[in-house]
Amino acid sequence: MASSKAVCVFAAVAFSVTLTTSTVQGQDEAQGSADPIPPEGLTQLDDILAYGVADSLLEQPYRVGEETITLILQDGENLSLLLERAGIANNDRYAIAAVLEEHMDLRRLRAGKEFVLTIRYDGLTRELRTLEVLPTVDTIVLVDRNPESGVYTARAVPNALTSRLSGGAGPITHSLFATAVDQGVPDAVVLRAIQAFSFNVDFQRDIQPEDDFAILYEQDFFADGTLARNGNILHARLTLSGRDLELFRYEDAEGLVDYYNRDGESMRRYLMRTPIDGARLSSRFGMRRHPILGYSRMHRGIDFAAPTGTPIYAAGDGVIDFLGTNSGYGRYIRIRHNSRLSTAYAHMSRYRSGLGRGDRVDQGDIIGYVGSSGMSTGPHLHYEVLVNGAQVNPLDVDLPTGRNLEGAELADFEVQVAEMERALQDALLHNEAAQQAAIPPAE
Ligand SMILES: [Zn+2]
Repeated sequence: MASSKAVCVFAAVAFSVTLTTSTVQGQDEAQGSADPIPPEGLTQLDDILAYGVADSLLEQPYRVGEETITLILQDGENLSLLLERAGIANNDRYAIAAVLEEHMDLRRLRAGKEFVLTIRYDGLTRELRTLEVLPTVDTIVLVDRNPESGVYTARAVPNALTSRLSGGAGPITHSLFATAVDQGVPDAVVLRAIQAFSFNVDFQRDIQPEDDFAILYEQDFFADGTLARNGNILHARLTLSGRDLELFRYEDAEGLVDYYNRDGESMRRYLMRTPIDGARLSSRFGMRRHPILGYSRMHRGIDFAAPTGTPIYAAGDGVIDFLGTNSGYGRYIRIRHNSRLSTAYAHMSRYRSGLGRGDRVDQGDIIGYVGSSGMSTGPHLHYEVLVNGAQVNPLDVDLPTGRNLEGAELADFEVQVAEMERALQDALLHNEAAQQAAIPPAE
């Protein structure tokens, strides 16, 4: 549709045209003509002149014809208010909402949602002909008004999306996140890649100059070529100090999806390396001068500095076997993962509400929040790994899940690995070609 700005240019000079032609199209010819000629018999001329310079076409009260417009739901607006903004009468607003409700939850509409409306103008009245909205990226709901009966009906049709594999690669300059985003990889995709690698990479320590990355992920596009959504990461590679870390997505015969290395071994670990997001490792395991007690003693865990309230995750699947205040540890949780292995989390500001002793938790579940309770100089997570009840250095604990592909599954996986690697090369070549096309030819 024409933008409201373009409309605004001629709106002030085009009233006579509006009345003498049946549609609003073709008004551009009126541009630059002399003062508006007041439409005959119109009593609200002053209003019309005032509206004529308004920014929105919708504010022109007198119009004839049909037009398709896109309205975007504003903050605090609901469907009824949006339709009111388009000038749709109250009864019709109810009727439209009633038929739409059959296909989508109107209470869950978010600001920014687009509605494409075809509106018929007949002098001062306006009536909705069609309305189009996408409750999800792959569904279009269409509302139609029967011109004879005036009855509205709605139907949902699938929105055909085109899928494409996209790629990004390059040397890591300051952080994987910043570099990948610079290379055009969407930030949500980069975050998921970091999560998938987080069992095997300490992003605080392991990134060095000369390191690089590559990533292959799915994207779905609308018919007009705009991005509808980001899909799965199929393959990613990090080269850290000359060592390749690779992950390949694979759905096994039971339908379980996991990331595997090239040899078909699960990249997932029994315990997460860092049971907290965005934290800085602030104190390692080993002898150190205690910041409060003042003398040297063994630090039997590792500390992650993070703001109060930062979520803390269960490092692995297990059962809560201690939850409560534990002297110098402050608010403390211990999870038993198996007969030998436990993890402990100290100095929390609070526990996840409802969580108690004996509860099962899954790896990655939030169990509590960073604080500074107990003997602590500032907000941080003190994290311990215990083997047979004794603390060990969490950074030394690297327990694979033991999930390895074998036999026919492994053979199938290897075929897919080759396909993913080819697809990554294709996607990167596509990027290069697009970049070349964007550079003007040399003189
Ligand atoms: Zn500590």
